[in-house]
Amino acid sequence: MSTFGFTTDHQPTWCPGCGDFGIWTSVKNAMNAMELGPDDVFFAYGIGCHGNMYNWMKTYGFAGLHGRSLPVAQGVKLAHHTMPVLCITGDGDCIGEGGNHFIHAAKRNADITVLLFDNQVYGLTTGQASPTARPGLKTKSTPHGVVDMPLSPAALAITAGATFVARGFAGDGKGLSDLIVKAVRHKGFSLVDILQPCVTFNKDFGYPWYREHIYDLNSTGYMPDNRVKAFDKAMEWGEKLPVGVFFEEERPAHTDQYEMLKKDILVKQPVVVDVESMLHEFI
Ligand code: SF4
Ligand code: MG
Repeated sequence: MSTFGFTTDHQPTWCPGCGDFGIWTSVKNAMNAMELGPDDVFFAYGIGCHGNMYNWMKTYGFAGLHGRSLPVAQGVKLAHHTMPVLCITGDGDCIGEGGNHFIHAAKRNADITVLLFDNQVYGLTTGQASPTARPGLKTKSTPHGVVDMPLSPAALAITAGATFVARGFAGDGKGLSDLIVKAVRHKGFSLVDILQPCVTFNKDFGYPWYREHIYDLNSTGYMPDNRVKAFDKAMEWGEKLPVGVFFEEERPAHTDQYEMLKKDILVKQPVVVDVESMLHEFI
């Protein structure tokens, strides 16, 4: 197996023990396992602690506005559809500010991989509750505990039409990098919802809690080929919490359906714009 250098001169500024470290390592291991180097992939980042990875992950990348990594990723994919495109996003960034983008990217089966760093809080702004926060979680914005129901990113993706939906755990490096490899190799919209301890602002859901409750769904005989059953599994959260691949199906990806993309990648095709006639429309 080849190894590639993804490291920049910047040192991570994440809190010691943050689950982001484990995810970062799994991402690099997954790239190495697929023999993808820094020049072979594109990463779009949102805003949040996850987004700081932009500074210490050496690949093509773009760090944009809060919640907008998915539109950037889809634009890049349209321009260069043979390049793997990944979104590094968080529960607030992706399901809060970017929720509508998430639903529609899944619906159109955009051929991108979403790695969702899911810690139930807005860590970068000191730990306010996010849309995935569990009822009862006390945060700066919910001092008496969260009262509303959480959104499940996996269940939302399954409902919206995603064709690969998985959940991983930041404390399981090998299991997580295997899921990332499967997600990137999948043709179409893929999500890995990653349970990520925020050791500073979410003490309720740390490594011990997850280790006690998670189980490997795919070692139970479960088959990830039924959207309704996958939804049920994605909503399971209690004494037992499943990780693994919930759902997978083949369906033409968004970029498979444009004739002009069959000729070549868009960035290599000549730009043919009839400026005169375009202007005429507005005169
Ligand atoms: Fe990680 Fe939480 Fe610290 Fe952000 S605030 S770096 S998510 S531990
Ligand atoms: Mg978060």
